[in-house]
Amino acid sequence: YKPVLEVRDLRVSFHVREGEVQAVRGVDFHVNPGEVLGIVGESGCGKSVTAQTLMRLIPSPPSRIKSGSVRFLGEEVLLKSEKEMQQLRGSKMGMIFQDPMTSLNPTMTVGRQITENLKKHLKMSSAAAQKRAVEMLKLVGIPGAETRIHQYPHEFSGGMRQRVMIAIALSCDPALLIADEPTTALDVTIQAQILEVLNDLRGRLNTSIILITHNLGIVAGICDRVVVMYGGQVAETGTVKEIFNHPKHPYTEGLLKSLPRLDTSKDEPLIPIHGAPPDLVNPPTGCAFTPRCPYAMKICQRLDPGLIDCGGTQAARCWLNHPKVQEAKA
Ligand code: SF4
Ligand code: MG
Repeated sequence: YKPVLEVRDLRVSFHVREGEVQAVRGVDFHVNPGEVLGIVGESGCGKSVTAQTLMRLIPSPPSRIKSGSVRFLGEEVLLKSEKEMQQLRGSKMGMIFQDPMTSLNPTMTVGRQITENLKKHLKMSSAAAQKRAVEMLKLVGIPGAETRIHQYPHEFSGGMRQRVMIAIALSCDPALLIADEPTTALDVTIQAQILEVLNDLRGRLNTSIILITHNLGIVAGICDRVVVMYGGQVAETGTVKEIFNHPKHPYTEGLLKSLPRLDTSKDEPLIPIHGAPPDLVNPPTGCAFTPRCPYAMKICQRLDPGLIDCGGTQAARCWLNHPKVQEAKA
């Protein structure tokens, strides 16, 4: 089988007054058909920039894709024209963001926003599009879909608006849905409901999902595999089971220890790990986690270990997994 999406050695920078921020520094990952991949990390780790690059939504300038490859359904995304990208977005590649109000059109009924998309990308007739719009709203659990398609975004609550966004994003039956912090702006109960909608839809539609979040707890509930990002790189990757049962990177370990309890807290930012993320204007030459790592060794500061195979599908960018270090410990 072929992956739906394959990202290789992606490097993205952007300019600020202090210089060039190397936001994404050689990232590799893939998404298999029907799979939900979680991309996790704290703010500034490069996860959103990565997602925006996949959709070619980063503003350039100031951003620049320095190198790498993004193959989507076998085609190179980075070589496509803006016109081709517009075709792709909203049809084969759907997306939802943290704040639906920024992507919904406040002057158009939600029904029309879905039908326009269907007419544009799938060349559906008005009647067929109208029917499909009602079906989509039902699919994402909006009660009274037949009447609600005639309403405007402001007539919906935050959670219902996010459902509308999901309905729009999925209306053309995309191969990939990219969801960047889709529940962060919502309160805990609604958050759980939206995740439930996504979880339910993945079973019913044949859509692969990339779920970007700072909350490892959300990943546990819905994802198959995880990419943990740190300092613009992949720190660790593996199945949810591998990552949760035996994390191989101290950063992942720290994230797991600091997991907020979904039932008691609001969606709190996950930064109880002591210290600050690395300065990506002057990225470290060695392991980016060295200043915050309780296990740091001499070599860590000098040399980046690269992603080291840890068995199964797991790999971690940490010297602790190097055969020589393991030998010395034994
Ligand atoms: Fe810690 Fe060294 Fe591993 Fe980096 S490479 S995470 S500093 S032990
Ligand atoms: Mg973000």
